[in-house]
Amino acid sequence: MTKTALITGVTGQDGYYLSRFLLQKGYRVVGLILPQRQSSLAKLGSLVNKLEIYAVDLSDSRVLSGLLEQVQPQEIYHLAAPSFVPDSWNDPLATLDVIAGTTTRLLMAIRQAGLATRFYQASSSEMFGQVERSPQDENTPFRPLNPYATAKLHAHWTMVHYRQRYGLFACSGILYNHESPRRPTQFVSRKVCLAAAAIKLGISDRLEIGNLEAKRDWGYAGDYVESMWQMLQQEKPEDYVIGTGKLHSVKELVATAFECVGLDWTRYVVVNPNLVRSDEHFLLAANSKKAKQKLQWQPQLSFDNLLEKMVLKDLERLQNGTIVTSVKS
Ligand code: NAP
Repeated sequence: MTKTALITGVTGQDGYYLSRFLLQKGYRVVGLILPQRQSSLAKLGSLVNKLEIYAVDLSDSRVLSGLLEQVQPQEIYHLAAPSFVPDSWNDPLATLDVIAGTTTRLLMAIRQAGLATRFYQASSSEMFGQVERSPQDENTPFRPLNPYATAKLHAHWTMVHYRQRYGLFACSGILYNHESPRRPTQFVSRKVCLAAAAIKLGISDRLEIGNLEAKRDWGYAGDYVESMWQMLQQEKPEDYVIGTGKLHSVKELVATAFECVGLDWTRYVVVNPNLVRSDEHFLLAANSKKAKQKLQWQPQLSFDNLLEKMVLKDLERLQNGTIVTSVKS
């Protein structure tokens, strides 16, 4: 029997890689987009023709219940969220409304529709926040440091409540930073790769960056979406920490990306203190032992190869003028 997967946030980075992965597995993939963001579909390129797309207001519980009854998904991957952390300070209430509200409404709609669907919640390492030790695992206390993380934590606990109280098959993937050529340009990994490509082509001559000493656990989105699927194939619903466990500094990120195009980064990079995040000194690195043991999940693409992939794609986009849309990777 063909399985149906429903993905919210299908037009995002993870939505793309997850859709592609599930289609390869023979799934019918249904993607949800916001009615006012039809233009985002262009980000999916030709993949969009293989998906069933519905434009749905995720804040409308009645519409959500009706949709679930109609689509009858066996699996739901809830990825939709404003994902750029610094933006969450501009409107903390809207962040909470979208992230916590949509998760709660989806969980309520699953119950209302009486579906035996499996539910994946896109949780974040940001929920760990003010950590006392590194790396973190599934037992590390949550001490969020920004409105995005607090909203994600609300959504996470709501998912746990539905699992405990109603026996719903619901899992949280607590994912560390994962990147790809599809990462939006405000994120530091993509910003650096795009700048390296633009400087190489003579389109730009410098890159402004915040704290070069900040460290992150960066992995490849294409690897991470596989763990989402693996979580929903287990006998029991559980939560998993997903990351590489390896920390790299922004300086290493910059040096590696510029090296991909044969440039010495020190000639082009300018530190701008206004771009420094206040919470950057906490070391967020994953201990994904549980995922390795239970899901047999392992990150495949190395840090260097990930950056090479991103820089080369941005070079190609700049050369052929497709910097914004229709990206194949
Ligand atoms: P992304 O590329 O920013 O995609 C986010 C998706 O959510 C897009 O489809 C976007 O639609 C949609 N969206 C944004 N604001 C929305 C709103 N107000 N209402 C409904 N939909 C909205 O993010 P991603 O990297 O794929 O991440 C997927 C999920 O994993 C997110 O929940 C993110 O918070 C979480 N996460 C990501 C990471 C990471 O490192 N990437 C780590 C941990 C957790 P448009 O395309 O129309 O903008």
